[in-house]
Amino acid sequence: MSQALPGIKNLRRPSGRAGIPQAAYTPWSLHSPMIEYLDPFFYIVGEAVVVVVVLVLIFSFMGALIILYSFKTGRFFYARIMLIALSLLESVIKAILWLGRADDTLVDDFSILLRNYINHRKFCETSNGDRYIFMPQCLRSVDCPAKLGPEGIACVNCGRCQMGQAKEYAESLGYKFFIVPGSSFIKRIIKKYRPKAIVGVGCQMEIKEGLMMCHSKDIPAIGVMLTKAGCVATTLDWDQFYEVISE
Ligand code: SF4
Repeated sequence: MSQALPGIKNLRRPSGRAGIPQAAYTPWSLHSPMIEYLDPFFYIVGEAVVVVVVLVLIFSFMGALIILYSFKTGRFFYARIMLIALSLLESVIKAILWLGRADDTLVDDFSILLRNYINHRKFCETSNGDRYIFMPQCLRSVDCPAKLGPEGIACVNCGRCQMGQAKEYAESLGYKFFIVPGSSFIKRIIKKYRPKAIVGVGCQMEIKEGLMMCHSKDIPAIGVMLTKAGCVATTLDWDQFYEVISE
């Protein structure tokens, strides 16, 4: 039976329908038909999220193991599939390696090795005359007398660093050799000359980004990482460099 609210004349307490409180009919009430309908839906979504998370963790863990194994043995399995998986799961694999106290930059090294491995066959199919080499300016001597021109830093082979010798040798093989001040310069040279293959020397991030850029332009590229990165006085494993350009 409805009652007048105290102190408010002629107003009555809402009673709902057939003795059931009004609140039972609001759309978001815990007992409303809509929530009963949505309950199984959210349950299924929740289960799906848990399954996806578990699968991501399993694949990432396997990825981390494969990376460590590949570094140890120098063997690669399903390189293209690995590269796609690595791009998708990079952050999780890095987190797993970090938690396992392993060096998480191994993931970036591995992605460079994979791209080099995948590009190697196509790279070898090109002739030396169609190949371009891009060297970072930080590899020069700090006393380098070379000037920056429209074709990059014009080495005069002064003997203060190994760049002059490398340029001479690479050009004798037929390569075009550039000492570049930055990545925008490389893009401009690629656009201008359209090389068929590229050898790029740089730090880990430069190589990684450079290889992706070359992939987007369908140019087989091989990256050679600096052994000591930085803005000046960087170092390179020159034997590795000569081995790559001799292929
Ligand atoms: S060899 Fe070339 S790059 Fe090296 S310091 Fe001399 S001019 Fe500069």
